[in-house]
Amino acid sequence: MGDDSSPSKRRRNSAVRLLMVGPPGCGKGTQAALLSEKLGIPAISTGDMLRQAVAAGSELGQKVKGIMSEGALVDDETMAQVVEDRLAAADAQDGFILDGYPRNLDQAETLAGILDGAQESLDAVLVLDVPQEELVRRALARKRADDKEEVIRERLRVYEEKTEPLIHYYRERGILRRVDGHLPVEQVTSRLLEALSELHKP
Ligand code: AMP
Repeated sequence: MGDDSSPSKRRRNSAVRLLMVGPPGCGKGTQAALLSEKLGIPAISTGDMLRQAVAAGSELGQKVKGIMSEGALVDDETMAQVVEDRLAAADAQDGFILDGYPRNLDQAETLAGILDGAQESLDAVLVLDVPQEELVRRALARKRADDKEEVIRERLRVYEEKTEPLIHYYRERGILRRVDGHLPVEQVTSRLLEALSELHKP
């Protein structure tokens, strides 16, 4: 399409940069992994990165351990560093599926700044809609160390207060795609892929 035929430019143009947004337990991690396989781009979960840091006992892990166990959010500055470093890695240059970041409007602005700096932008923000009772049921079934019921409810509360405003933010930017997440896994995946295929129509 464009007249710039340099390989690096061409690669960038075909890259797909996606966000998965949705409450804890909505299945976005599962769907990010499935989309990652289908699209050949990495799924980047900030929650997984932090859990790995905790398990490794790194400086980052020690800093975030207590915060995570309460279901609260790690500070924006720490997260900005984590995400900026990860998006700079070689495997993220041809696209990515970011799961768990941004978590609030300030983080959304930070992400926009990081991408702008690389002359990149998001292609779509995928939202999975799942009813609240189903979220608690799923989260309890996952039985992670930080999955006590009161912590799950706190994470849902934090989601509603801090993260849900992102839906409006990205809708205004015209890149929001909502999919019913209360369906069998493979049906959710096909609906997500359908939503993505529409992005490339003129
Ligand atoms: P997740 O697996 O995405 O639900 O993340 C697990 C926990 O990691 C969250 O409850 C937060 O404590 C922390 N966390 C992950 N991503 C972020 C983020 N973008 N901002 C702040 N805290 C985060």
